[in-house]
Amino acid sequence: MSASITFFPVGCGDMTLVRLADSNATAVLVDVNIRTAADDPDDATRDVAGDLRERLPRDAQGRPYVDAFLLSHPDKDHCSGLETHFHLGPLSDYPDDKKPDTEKKIVIREIWSSPLVFRRASKHHTLCSDAKAFNREAKRRVQRFRDGIGNADGERILILGEDENGKTDDLGAILVRAGEYFNRINGNANAYFQAHLLAPLPCQDDDDVELLSKNHSSTILNMQLASSALRPDSCRFLTGGDAEVAIWEHVWARHKHTPDVLAYDVLQAPHHCSWHSLSYDSWSQLGEKAKVAPDARAALGQARFGAFVVASSKPIKDDDADPPCIRAKREYQEILSSASGMFLCTGEHPKSWAPEPLEIEITAAGARKKAARSSAVASVAAAAAPRAG
Ligand SMILES: [Zn+2]
Repeated sequence: MSASITFFPVGCGDMTLVRLADSNATAVLVDVNIRTAADDPDDATRDVAGDLRERLPRDAQGRPYVDAFLLSHPDKDHCSGLETHFHLGPLSDYPDDKKPDTEKKIVIREIWSSPLVFRRASKHHTLCSDAKAFNREAKRRVQRFRDGIGNADGERILILGEDENGKTDDLGAILVRAGEYFNRINGNANAYFQAHLLAPLPCQDDDDVELLSKNHSSTILNMQLASSALRPDSCRFLTGGDAEVAIWEHVWARHKHTPDVLAYDVLQAPHHCSWHSLSYDSWSQLGEKAKVAPDARAALGQARFGAFVVASSKPIKDDDADPPCIRAKREYQEILSSASGMFLCTGEHPKSWAPEPLEIEITAAGARKKAARSSAVASVAAAAAPRAG
């Protein structure tokens, strides 16, 4: 099976599944946004939980699972549906073995969590129930690790970024520091994957803490995905949750002499294609007078040839909304023009009135967009139809 990245149409929110090219087709899910309407069969909202489940592997007990689940940051549009659709708590308490496949909760073999991102998020707003549930589960797993009993499927956790005041200093074996690379997924080194942890970055002072907290501090990873064992760097997938302008400026300051660190074939446009990831100015107030922050643009501008920028958002209109913001889309299109790349939006794929999961396949030649299933079905039907005359 080839490696792939699937972006689900979840409105302004993120839910992205990475499948690797290894024999297990290792599954890494970044964020989840399964809204109540998407679970309602009488509502027209796309059944993204169904779309996700049909793409997930089943374990020996027939339970659907992800090898790893990363929560980029604990906002509602990145963790909605977690309690409803995922099993949290010890795997020995898994309750759904007698239920039909479609009703079984999804097992998270390993959690990827950033306590520093949580700390910054909770400074400015109250966490929703799904975010609190994630945090409880992450803490449970850390405690298991500290007790020496955390090394099993459904119990593992990887901590992304060191926390403040030495709180993560004793977590050596499960801690990835900002700037480090890792290739371990669910306890095993994976030759088809490597990720570079670009953020959260530790702060220099209190002003820094305040600034980064207000800029939707998120975990930023640049993943290197192999198309085969011989081609480890077939695709770079840069994903950074809702990180805004000050964070991308910090990232650029740290890596501007080695910009390849930020090179991508697929970029998830931060914060659902928000203008605030590229600028300090307000798009709705200043319109075309709003200025781009050059360092943030440089951090997000390292597109490799044929790259895709994907806005995980509702359809982008030519108005003063933000996010998604038409001016941000134009900026990404300009970045892509010199790389012969393509801008895509989950809410518009293939049609804004009937969005479907957007799938990027990783081949030896790089990343390529797969045709939407409805258009594939339509072309098969057209080919099969008897010709007139
Ligand atoms: Zn968001």
